[in-house]
Amino acid sequence: MKTFDWIVVGGGIAGISLSEILTREGHSVALIEKQSKLASQTTREFHEWMHTGSLYTLVKDEMKTLKYILGSLDDLLEFYSCFPQMNLKPSENGLNINDDEKGWFSPNYINFKYRLKNRKFLFSWLYSVARSIALIDGIKNHDWLRRRAGILESVTTKYYLPIAKHLLKIIFSNKKFIKIQTSDFTTNSRHLLRDLVATAVKNGLEIFTNNELLEIKNVDGEIIIVLFHQAGSILVIRGK
Ligand SMILES: Cc1cc2nc3c(=O)[nH]c(=O)nc-3n(C[C@H](O)[C@H](O)[C@H](O)COP(=O)(O)OP(=O)(O)OC[C@H]3O[C@@H](n4cnc5c(N)ncnc54)[C@H](O)[C@@H]3O)c2cc1C
Repeated sequence: MKTFDWIVVGGGIAGISLSEILTREGHSVALIEKQSKLASQTTREFHEWMHTGSLYTLVKDEMKTLKYILGSLDDLLEFYSCFPQMNLKPSENGLNINDDEKGWFSPNYINFKYRLKNRKFLFSWLYSVARSIALIDGIKNHDWLRRRAGILESVTTKYYLPIAKHLLKIIFSNKKFIKIQTSDFTTNSRHLLRDLVATAVKNGLEIFTNNELLEIKNVDGEIIIVLFHQAGSILVIRGK
């Protein structure tokens, strides 16, 4: 019976990144995956869209989701700056992406089209569009060197004037759609996943594919993990 500091169940992007961070910090880690390959479930369906929050500028939740995503981006920049292929470069006015074919990210920006046709008299929609465009401009030009993304200024202060400007433009526009380039871009998730798995394995990660978690037992304060291998055998490992 083997003993590990940590046992991570599920080899999708969440389990892989957690295992990588734990092994990088010097812990012994087992990653358990019931399928024959890692990243073969939801993570395989991933559409390569790196969210910087553009989508959430339309959500009326006092910008809570938007701030959460931006704060996570601050963490991402900090936790992964040691990887040479992590090609996002924070600057005082936006995120720059080094155009490197092996890089984790690509400077292919996602475009949004907001529909105006038949919606010209829906003032709440026009305001939402103007607010969304102003906030996306704010994200694009954000000062990423100060680690303050999660507290993006309140709509009521910094963004009043830009929102009013965009609102006037939208009201007097005779177009069917307003098209903008957002701050979101695409991910090369295969490079990213490969780098994370390779680094974690180099740091001692043990991967158990074809093993499904059956049971977690707590025996006198010790965590016992019972796994079922597809070949029919039962494997038992211990976690601290
Ligand atoms: C169609 C689609 C498109 C998407 N596009 C994007 C996008 O463009 N951008 C974006 O940011 N997000 C996107 N997402 C969301 C993103 O893909 C998911 O949030 C992410 O992949 C979830 O990763 P995960 O590791 O939590 O889950 P999973 O990838 O599902 O990993 C969980 C793993 O646990 C394993 N497992 C489950 N039970 C057990 C058990 N008992 N024992 C052992 N192993 C077990 C499973 O086999 C699986 O491999 C998209 C999602 C979908 C469905």
